[in-house]
Order: sequence, then structure tokens, then C-alpha cells
Amino acid sequence: MHWADVEASELPPEPLIATGITPSGPIHLGSLREILTGDAIKRASDSGKLLYIADSIDPLRRVYPFLEESYEQYVGMPLHDIPCICGSHASYADHYLEPFLETIEQLGIECSVKYTHKMYAEGLYEGAIRKLIESRNVVAQILSEKANRQLEDSWYPYNPICNDCGRLGTTDILSFEDPFVHYRCKCGNQGKADIRTDDGKLPWRCDWPARWWILGVDCEPLGKDHATSGGSWDTGTEIIKKVFGTPPPHPVVYEWIQLKGKGAMSSSSGIAIKGEDILAMLEPEIIRFLLMKTKPQSHIDFDPALPLLDLVEEYDQIESKYYDGELEEDEKRTYELSQADGIPEYPPTRVPYRHLVNLVQIYDSVDDMWEISVGDECGPDDYERLIERAEKVRYWIDNFAPDFVKFSIKKEMPDVTLDENQRLFLEKYLSSLEEIDEWRDDLLHSLVHSTAEEVNLSKGKAFSIFYTILLGQKRGPKLGRFLMQIDREFLLQRLKKALK
Ligand SMILES: [Zn+2]
Repeated sequence: MHWADVEASELPPEPLIATGITPSGPIHLGSLREILTGDAIKRASDSGKLLYIADSIDPLRRVYPFLEESYEQYVGMPLHDIPCICGSHASYADHYLEPFLETIEQLGIECSVKYTHKMYAEGLYEGAIRKLIESRNVVAQILSEKANRQLEDSWYPYNPICNDCGRLGTTDILSFEDPFVHYRCKCGNQGKADIRTDDGKLPWRCDWPARWWILGVDCEPLGKDHATSGGSWDTGTEIIKKVFGTPPPHPVVYEWIQLKGKGAMSSSSGIAIKGEDILAMLEPEIIRFLLMKTKPQSHIDFDPALPLLDLVEEYDQIESKYYDGELEEDEKRTYELSQADGIPEYPPTRVPYRHLVNLVQIYDSVDDMWEISVGDECGPDDYERLIERAEKVRYWIDNFAPDFVKFSIKKEMPDVTLDENQRLFLEKYLSSLEEIDEWRDDLLHSLVHSTAEEVNLSKGKAFSIFYTILLGQKRGPKLGRFLMQIDREFLLQRLKKALK
């Protein structure tokens, strides 16, 4: 059984699956794993619902490397109260959330979105805060036993937001007179917070079980950092049992995505590929495929350079096998769960990504690429697929491709001087070309070998003739396929011109 079906089989009918990410930095491929894991389980479940909770009331913890120094003044303030970085969003939180929400929509994820600052403002947390404050000794004991936190007797599981300096976690609580929490802040201010509002929030280790209880969460994917012994999952499950008297959700622990050669992706360290970037170079179904084919518990090494092409190729192969009925049950599910926009009615015809890497560097127009690679034998959506993939390939070449795959065909003949042997080679090659009825990439390639042998020219020199004439450089893409992709007339003209 596919992992999503296994997890879903553990859940009650109409399960509520919750995910949450703090919008403190660019949301990246690693964080997409959380919501895509939730989405897969939702799809596999019996009428499940998926929730994305944006921790917009969380404070800015520090000035991250991607922030200007002026953000120092906002450290400790809730993200939704901090001004937007670029000035065009309502808040710091929205600056990162908006592109993320667009990304998840494009990935075909259907979920409802909740903002914690609104949940607090609407009074949703009131009952939970009261219960936690009333059982604060039980909570303190759980935190000390499980997480080895030594808390003072005066500790409260509640953090008021100072009504003067606007910071969280800078206050000492003096007393609780339902519904008010009286506090004194390090800034000197003394005030009271109303637990029915967003005057304050629960600390993370209490907030998590509180929201499970408030919303009735049945399943939650969680990063492995939360799942360590003594981590917030451990204490959260104790708190929900002992304070709220209900069982914890079904956990699905997921592993990090490593960026090849750099380490685990995280937005605070800046080691990450942004959600928008990944969508700009891969079709949504291929991003989903990467995560659907891998169990959440296995780590993924993501390499956006050349290995990206293997990933796309693997997807294309699975896709064609799907329509040929050649897939095992698990792979079939992987393909189905990878679809962002429903399973295509007809088998798609896709131009291989690898192939397009050359085509987009040779042709400007999609029609030319269509002509040379597909022709007429395909369905109505395939042209759209080519447009989409060609755009992604261009983005990949501009941003992630290694230099050696980049080239541009010179519009004018570069300066070339051929020696006697090379001229002889090219003459023979040209006349053989004109004798071949049907060009094939392997044929054009092996013809270089045999012709070079005939005239006693080294293979390297023979190959480089083509690259010099066409690209003005010594090396280039695999020759047979490359020549096949170039307009035939243009190629013949160019080769002849080199002999003049
Ligand atoms: Zn203050």
C-alpha cells in the first residue's frame, strides 16, 4: 500500500488534518513537504479536510541573514504586527504567506487557511488558555519531567504581548483574574491581557495541544525536530491528555529535504530553494511526484542541477507506464497522488526535459520546438504542456543549470579556419549527410566516428569542428541529438559555408 493510504487507514472518517508553518522567511521545498504530506493523506482518506495554520502571531526571533538590520527593532514582536519587507503586503507575515498560498494552489492542494493572530482575536483560544492556566502546575510538571525545563512557581503558560512595547516573552505575570492576566514588562510597562483576545498567546508547547483540542485535529504531519524525545510532540501529547482529557492526533513524522552539498533546507539559514523557484523550474505534478514517491520518513537529497533532469525523466516514464497499465499498485498511486489538476484523460505527450534544454537554446518560438519534436501526433493539451515545460526549462537554464549545458547558436558564422584534414573530414561528412534519407541522431553521431577514421582525424577534433562552426566554442551538447534539433537547411548551409 502507498504510504498515504497506510496513514489514512489509521484515521477516523472525515478526519481533520492540520499543518502549520511559521511565516518568518521564504517558504521552501522543505516546508512544502509538510503540507504535501497532509494533502496526500487527505486525498487518501474518507472525506478528510486539510487545514493550514499560519503562525502569524509568533514573534520574530532574530534578524535573519535575509533581513535588513533595521529589523532589529521588531525582534520579539508578532509577525503580523511587523511591517512588510517590500512594502506591498499587509505585514511581514503576509509577505511570505502570499507567495506560499499561491504555490500551494498551483500544486493542487485544497486546504482552508487559518491565521493564529485571528484565532486569538476571535476568542477561539479562550477556553484552552483558561484550562491551561488553571492546570499550570500540571503543565509545569510535564515540561520539567519530559523536557527538563525548570520553571519557577510564578510561571504561567501564557505570554502577554506588552501593550506598550508590543513584544512577546518579555513579561512577568503577576496574577490571573479571569479573564485578565496582569503582567509587568521588561520595558517598565505594567498592564493586563484579556485571554478572550489577541492580547497574548500560549507558548508553543502549550499552543500546539491547545489547537488540537480546539479544532479537533485527527492527524498532524510534523518535522522530525518536533518529534525528538522531550520535544514539543512529547510534551504536547501529555498536555492534551492530562489538561484537556482528549487523545492526541495521529502523528506523521517527516524528514528534512537536503539541498545537495549544503545541508537541510531551512529558511532561517538561507539554505533553501523557494517554493516559487521550484515551481518555476518544475511542473507541479513533478514536485508532487518527488514527495509522493518517497515515504515521509526518508530524507530526500534534492539537487537542482543536472540530477533534476533525471527526476523529470523518471516522472515521464512512470506516466507512460501508467497509461500502458504497467505499474505496480504503489507506483500507480504515486502517479495519481502526483496530479495537481486531476488525472489526464488521455496519455500526455511530453517533450523530454533534456531534449528541451537544447531546443529552447536553439529556437525562440514554441511552434518551432513543436514542429521539430512533436508534430501533429498528440492530444489537444500537449501543446500547452510544451509551452509550460519550455518556460520551466528556460528558467532552469538561467538559474540552476551547470554552465556546460548552456550554449547559443551563433546567428553569424564564427571565425573558423580549418586545416586540410578537417576540410577533408567536413567535405566527406557533408556528402554522406546528403545521401542519408532519414536522419537519426545515432546515425549522425556514428558518421562522425567513421568519417574521422577514414581521414585519420582524431575524434575530439572532429567533434569540435561542429561546435566551433555552430556555437563558437570547443564543446557542446551531445552531437547526434543536437544536430537533429537544428533546422536541416540551416545546418547544411552552415557546414557548407565553413568550407568556403
Ligand atoms: Zn514592554
